[in-house]
Amino acid sequence: MAEIFAIAIDGPSGSGKSTAAKMIAKKLNITYVDTGAMYRAVGLYCRRKGIDTKDEASVVTVLDEINITFKVDGDTRRIMLNGEDVTDTIRTQDIGMAASDVGAIADVRKKLVKMQQMIAKEQSVVMDGRDIGTVVLKNAQIKIYLDATVEERTRRRIGELNEKGIISDFETIKKEIEERDYNDTHRKVTPLCKAEDAVYFVNDGMTVDETSDAIIKIVDERLGR
Ligand code: C5P
Repeated sequence: MAEIFAIAIDGPSGSGKSTAAKMIAKKLNITYVDTGAMYRAVGLYCRRKGIDTKDEASVVTVLDEINITFKVDGDTRRIMLNGEDVTDTIRTQDIGMAASDVGAIADVRKKLVKMQQMIAKEQSVVMDGRDIGTVVLKNAQIKIYLDATVEERTRRRIGELNEKGIISDFETIKKEIEERDYNDTHRKVTPLCKAEDAVYFVNDGMTVDETSDAIIKIVDERLGR
């Protein structure tokens, strides 16, 4: 069996990590793990239960009630929360904020990081998130820190929302992105930061194809292919 390897992609929201990671997984025929979706699923569960996502004690009380799994469906991987497919439900700005809140809680991170490490033990993965290169897959062969200016990330988010028929205001979305950036980089537990050995990559003005091809080039160099 070919040796398994891991590609860790970290960066702020809207840097295009997930879209690039998905494409890389397809091109290299390896598994894509969307760790943000896992934090979002926890956020969604709490919202539905009426739990304040900033209240650590309350969130921790319900953690054992939350079972997250992935289901392969053709080309895509669906995320299941206690058996329910929540892949589409979790993709809102509000659940993004809830995810950012619960992601600041150490016990939540402990539970999800363990799951993520188990997945990467069994197969080659491209995993994206905020702490992949620094915590989850410290020994990943390839680490990328993907970034883009806040204006570019705002334009992308507005484009995504537009596609869903949601018209949004530039300044409002920009403020939400900045707020999430602040949360993610200033929390006490594993704040978002670039791993020392990660390649810093800014993809302003680049298409998803260009970004994923550039990352694959780095992967090929690292793996000597
Ligand atoms: O990547 P995505 O926008 O889906 O992530 C939602 C939130 O989940 C992030 O803003 C971040 O606070 C949290 N998260 C995290 N660690 C990860 C992935 C996501 O804290 N590995």
